[in-house]
Amino acid sequence: MRIAIASLTHESNTFAAFPTTLDEFRVHRGEDVIAAYKPTFHEVAGYIAAAEEYDYEMAPLFAANATPAGALTRDTYETLVGELLASLAAAKDSCDGLLLALHGAMVAEHFPQADAETVRRVRELVGPDFPVVVTHDYHGNVNEELVRDATALIIYKTNPHIDQRERGIQAAHILARTIRGDVKPTQAIAKPNLLFNIAFHNTSKPPMQPLMQAAIALEDQPGVLACSIAAGYQYADVPAMGPSIVVVTDNDPALAQREADRLAAMMWDVRDQLIPRILDAAEAVKMAIESTETPVALFELGDNIGGGSAGDATIILAELVRQKATGWVAAVYDPESVQQCFAAGIGREVDLMVGGKTDNEHGTPVAIHGRVRTLSDGSYEETERRHGGARFIEQGLSAVVSVRGDEGERVGLLLVNSLRTTPFSIHQLTSVGIVPEQQKILVAKGAVAPRAAYEPVSKRIIEVDTPGACAISRGPEAFHLARKDLYEWNTSMIH
Ligand SMILES: [Zn+2]
Repeated sequence: MRIAIASLTHESNTFAAFPTTLDEFRVHRGEDVIAAYKPTFHEVAGYIAAAEEYDYEMAPLFAANATPAGALTRDTYETLVGELLASLAAAKDSCDGLLLALHGAMVAEHFPQADAETVRRVRELVGPDFPVVVTHDYHGNVNEELVRDATALIIYKTNPHIDQRERGIQAAHILARTIRGDVKPTQAIAKPNLLFNIAFHNTSKPPMQPLMQAAIALEDQPGVLACSIAAGYQYADVPAMGPSIVVVTDNDPALAQREADRLAAMMWDVRDQLIPRILDAAEAVKMAIESTETPVALFELGDNIGGGSAGDATIILAELVRQKATGWVAAVYDPESVQQCFAAGIGREVDLMVGGKTDNEHGTPVAIHGRVRTLSDGSYEETERRHGGARFIEQGLSAVVSVRGDEGERVGLLLVNSLRTTPFSIHQLTSVGIVPEQQKILVAKGAVAPRAAYEPVSKRIIEVDTPGACAISRGPEAFHLARKDLYEWNTSMIH
């Protein structure tokens, strides 16, 4: 048995100021795919790990990924999919099936449901009988076309995403059994008419936790091969925006539809629990300052870098300065400030205007005075299971500034970096000499995903409702392609 392996992943935020272009993508080809992904906890690592157990040879084709940001330009999508399809065309006659990792929330400027378009083209190339098992991120906006064209769809079951590797293995198992003729996957999708706000995406807490438990329990039922819930991604204005239930059965499409509908009804029943109650920056910073148990982690929801925002928001930073907080740590994407720190040198005083430079959505630059504490190349390694599954991470040239208050006293530590970097690894801080447990307030730009990294070092996590490309309170008036009749839109914010 020989199985082709490919990956093309991007979470595209249609509210982000800039499109995503080809040079943002990290691309691996052929055997290089194995070398790049094998040491990680990514689903492609699961495809690779399963080869021995399920006894198949691998034909690694192509893998491309970029940090979440705006929709892909037409050229970017066509170039990447063109290469994926060309490599598949060359390999398909020597292969029995395809494992294909797609995010589920990729948007191209000419295809709002870009992943469905990718699978449509793959199906057109390989024909109706070639098994193609697809994996998705939990934040996918799945549509019926993709479920029709894929042999089976498997979606992560955890957020933070720490089960990616297991889902890759599960997909490989279903594909291997399909090729051997042991099973014949049939699948169905149900989409409850809800917006499942990202504030409720944590799979370890209600209301999502019991729903996910029901999905996991269903996988033990006879005739069911897989059951997935995608919470959806509210930062993409696409027709299928919103949650999805996908059930894969063994040659029983009616069972698949019945169970998908049953779980969708369970989700509909929790709709009144989906109204966010989240503090604003002034309230959250005040609460953090008054907290007797530290560190307190403040999650800046509007600048959720893993959701495609700018990474240089200053909403919480400005509030920390305004309320004269001490013992804080904040990381801000600001290549210009990094250059100023490198020009000054370690131990030297700097005056910076930090952040708020990408667009007008994420606050304005904040005046910072301090002393350059460390300068680094910004590379670090994560060996634990963390959201996204990455192992070797680059935040680009980076500097830490020991920030001084009006009286010259030390008030906090500012990390400025040169690449937009998701706060999914605590080594973003430890690698530049910051001991998180010794601080009072940690600021992380994310919603749920940073929990895997920050829960072990924080006494308390406070989510903060801030403006930005990932603002959680955007209503239906901001959307054009998404369904307009989603229940409540969950926008009645209660502070
Ligand atoms: Zn995700």
